[in-house]
Amino acid sequence: MADDGIPKFKLVLVGDGGTGKTTFVKRHLSGEFEKKYIATIGVEVHPLTFTTTKGKLVFNTWDTAGQEKFGGLRDGYYIQGKCAIIMFDVTSRITYKNVPNWHRDLVRVCENIPIVLCGNKVDIKERKVKAKTITFHRKKNLQYYDISAKSNYNFEKPFLWLARKLTGEPDLDFVEAPALQPPEVQIDANLMMQYNQEMEAAAAMPLPEEDDDL
Ligand code: GDP
Ligand code: MG
Repeated sequence: MADDGIPKFKLVLVGDGGTGKTTFVKRHLSGEFEKKYIATIGVEVHPLTFTTTKGKLVFNTWDTAGQEKFGGLRDGYYIQGKCAIIMFDVTSRITYKNVPNWHRDLVRVCENIPIVLCGNKVDIKERKVKAKTITFHRKKNLQYYDISAKSNYNFEKPFLWLARKLTGEPDLDFVEAPALQPPEVQIDANLMMQYNQEMEAAAAMPLPEEDDDL
């Protein structure tokens, strides 16, 4: 809580390079306008403001300058994280395979924070990581959403889920949409409906047995 009385939460954004983290965070226009660069750690912090039924809140969203392409991130990136988004690219299996590594690094520093797993780029027709493969969130009690940063598809979903967890208000809602960049690609509504049905069907299946993290 800063002096303006608006609750602020550090949101740690992680995932392989190229999955769309920077594209995603830059969709939110006022956050992009007000972002701050912390040169010592090489991060941009985007203050993403949302107006809810319980008042305004801000996710101070941390985005790397690309250091994740060269391995893990320093502890300073995670310290004091209050919530997190782990992103992978649904057109790249390796980025999903690496999700457990990002999760491990994150919870080593941030022990018990709400985390959303996001599969980005669902606008691309050649999807490689299908609903039935996406099980990691069920094992670790994370929330999962398909998203498409370039089309704004489900942009607000991860923030709404995190806001409800962080405030302890399961009925909290957003009362106005934040200003976003206009969509750069169109999504196929029927295909998204199909993906949602596949995700629901997958949620009803027993978890695979292997004790491996995937
Ligand atoms: P980062 O390394 O995780 O920050 O990823 P970037 O945001 O730099 O994005 C990597 C590439 O993926 C860029 O060429 C983006 O334009 C592209 N990209 C990001 N999000 C999407 C998306 O939702 N759909 C599509 N088709 N491309 C995307
Ligand atoms: Mg980036």
